[in-house]
Amino acid sequence: MEPVVVECLTYRAECQDCGAGTTCSGVQALVNGSLTWDTEISCPSCGLRLAVCGGDLPAELRDRLLAEHGAVRLRVDQAASRAVAMRVLRNVLGLPLADVKSVLHEVVTGRYVGTMPEMERLARGLRAAGVDAVAART
Ligand SMILES: [Zn+2]
Repeated sequence: MEPVVVECLTYRAECQDCGAGTTCSGVQALVNGSLTWDTEISCPSCGLRLAVCGGDLPAELRDRLLAEHGAVRLRVDQAASRAVAMRVLRNVLGLPLADVKSVLHEVVTGRYVGTMPEMERLARGLRAAGVDAVAART
């Protein structure tokens, strides 16, 4: 089994019930080829506890992760087959063919960035298809 890749952070936010300052935690993880995320809030003032997860990663949490940890760049072997890389990107990202072409262009030119779990998922998919790829912090 492949190692789990996790990116997490804590941040301050106001309790939605009482308005007190609380510490929240947010996590994005790559587990068995799938991306998961959750956020947790625990209010010391009123005792509110909330955990949220599932579905697409909220843009706010993604922005926080990128701000906290920095963007991760997907690097691929320039000699790699574009057709293979495109097939992997299409499968992993679930994008229509028209959109995959622009993503592939960004990947090939070293401009495709995201969180570590996101980029590691693509890098693993590419390596499994025989394309030399790594996810590296910029
Ligand atoms: Zn509260």
